[in-house]
Amino acid sequence: MRTAIAATLAPLPLGAWAEGFTIVTLGARGGIEDGNLSAFLIHPAGDPRGVTCDAGSLVSGLRAAGEAGVFDGIAVPEDSGMTRVGHVLTDVIRGYFISHAHLDHVAGLVIASPDDSAKPIHALPSVLEAIEATYFNWTAWPNFGPSGVEPHLGKYAYVPLVPGEAIAVEGTAMTATAYPLDHGPVESTAFLFEAGGDAVLCLGDTGPDRVEGGAKLRALWQAVAPLAASGALKAVIIESSYPSDRPDDALFGHLTPALIHEEMDVLAGLAGAEALRGLEVIVSHTKYLLTEGPLAQDVMLEELKTGDRLGLTYRIPEQGVAWTVGGD
Ligand SMILES: [Zn+2]
Repeated sequence: MRTAIAATLAPLPLGAWAEGFTIVTLGARGGIEDGNLSAFLIHPAGDPRGVTCDAGSLVSGLRAAGEAGVFDGIAVPEDSGMTRVGHVLTDVIRGYFISHAHLDHVAGLVIASPDDSAKPIHALPSVLEAIEATYFNWTAWPNFGPSGVEPHLGKYAYVPLVPGEAIAVEGTAMTATAYPLDHGPVESTAFLFEAGGDAVLCLGDTGPDRVEGGAKLRALWQAVAPLAASGALKAVIIESSYPSDRPDDALFGHLTPALIHEEMDVLAGLAGAEALRGLEVIVSHTKYLLTEGPLAQDVMLEELKTGDRLGLTYRIPEQGVAWTVGGD
């Protein structure tokens, strides 16, 4: 079955697809609304075989994207008996990249696991250990992993990533590289996806270096600066959990629009401000509010745009929205 489906998914010879990446928003918020939590489906434009960067929401995001027509170009093999959402979950998504094991970044994966297909979960070792200990332990959920509390159902393979070392992502045309981030007491991760000379960077939750007391964000910007300088970096997915008036001592390992501006200044200092002009900065993890008043994402998008000093293209996407970056 895998061979037949692979043929429908890869009609173009290697390298023949349009340049750039397609990014599908499977989950836009960082809380507190279940069913719309951090997750992005990322694949080279024209080649739908992809991975998700985090999986806070999965099937709900695939349904929203499907209803918006995002997957209309994907042929479902007649003999599969699958809906289009089922086909995308079990065959188009070839693996998961999980930044950290907080519930709002893995809930969709855990809940979908009984009907998911076998595939790898890629993460730093500390994150894989947390997934194994916290979720796939038969207490929170059956153990669909390959290790930990027995019996091991073994649907997912755990692929530990080495910081700064690119790996070929099996079943896709992409490579991926992990970079550690500080997120309060938790190790989080940024993933750099590359294909056809283009790149997309997807950051998990992180606080600013000066609050976290480390230098991991600066190290990340140094690592990707050559790609930004050459124009290969097409998009950065980065979190903003609170509006800019949030005091530093109440960030809890997160960013704000003002702090994103500071970080983009660091990248511009390393790569050159001119090279960043027009770079797509996709802001994730905005919180759903239960209080009356303006929506957090509206406040933050306004702050992102008015405080922009570099001519960047800021977006705060909604669930189910997809677009292609690069490919000019
Ligand atoms: Zn978190």
